[in-house]
Amino acid sequence: MRCNSCGKLIRIENSIIREDVFEAVKEWGYFSKKDLEIHKFNLCEECYDKITSSFIIPVEINSKNEVMGL
Ligand SMILES: [Zn+2]
Repeated sequence: MRCNSCGKLIRIENSIIREDVFEAVKEWGYFSKKDLEIHKFNLCEECYDKITSSFIIPVEINSKNEVMGL
């Protein structure tokens, strides 16, 4: 597995990913120009930070405890 943005190899040992990565999968629908194509990419944490820091509206961040109502 590689980061789609920088090409960095994501370390995998015994089929377990050794670092956390951002995985995106999008199934485009009829109302897009991509007519039912499935798009997939991975980003390492560095590239994820780089890309999301260029957003005008920042990423919504919740802690897992809040989401689970703990
Ligand atoms: Zn990267």
